[in-house]
Amino acid sequence: MALLINDLCIACDVCLAACPNKAITKDDDDVFTIDADLCTECVGHHAVSQCVKVCPVRACVADPAHAESKDELQKKYEDLKARKAA
Ligand code: SF4
Ligand code: SF4
Repeated sequence: MALLINDLCIACDVCLAACPNKAITKDDDDVFTIDADLCTECVGHHAVSQCVKVCPVRACVADPAHAESKDELQKKYEDLKARKAA
């Protein structure tokens, strides 16, 4: 399941560098967003979601609109890796 960043976010920036898929962006208003097409829940990189681990205010949570199984997340990771290599 991809994650989302909720209103608890204090725009501390820490998650930006922590995401191995560069799935997190911030806009000019300091609103942080996770691209569901890039978020693998860190599958393929880490045992736990890095944004969840580093966020000081628990703003990174599961996005019910993007429910995915571990197998689907693994496939997403493989696809992203192949796309990067191409
Ligand atoms: S769960 Fe992992 S891949 Fe998804 S946004 Fe957080 S750090 Fe990035
Ligand atoms: S680590 Fe948490 S509080 Fe900091 S920018 Fe990311 S979501 Fe927001």
